[in-house]
Amino acid sequence: MSKRFPDRLDPWRFADLGKEVSGELPVEAFVRLRDCLMQADGEVLFNLSFSRDEQRHARLDGNVRTELTLECQRCLGALRFPVERRFSVVFVQGLNEAERLPEDLDPCLVEEGVVDFRELIEDELLLALPQVPMHDTDVCQVPHEFVSDEELQVSEPEQQENPFAVLSALKKDRH
Ligand SMILES: [Zn+2]
Repeated sequence: MSKRFPDRLDPWRFADLGKEVSGELPVEAFVRLRDCLMQADGEVLFNLSFSRDEQRHARLDGNVRTELTLECQRCLGALRFPVERRFSVVFVQGLNEAERLPEDLDPCLVEEGVVDFRELIEDELLLALPQVPMHDTDVCQVPHEFVSDEELQVSEPEQQENPFAVLSALKKDRH
């Protein structure tokens, strides 16, 4: 899929043209989101649809879809967290305009006439994150089990290999 769309776009122009922008971006492209993740893997799929409503507001209806790897706060293990989020915003140029909007419309403040759509997508992803990510209790592993499993996998081959390597090095020296 093409990744060539503008990072920053003029929302009023896009609304006038009824533009639709869709594509995918790697999770690791979202710097603020990355800080909340255990691992920045996978892709974010998005679809942004711009339009003018009856009041001539420039409006965006979007959806974002991805699966994020969070850290379970109970066992510190990886937790796969699917996100599918729909959102709608109305673009405004200042706080005055934002205050005049009906309450059911979510304002998006535009600075210098352009919107960074990655920031917009990232904001929505951050809003979708749970405050305290945790596995369901039936799949969550208690911390000591998780750590020992990992230690077994990492340290066992080393313990077997190292003495052997030392021994064979000694034998070579003697011959
Ligand atoms: Zn857990």
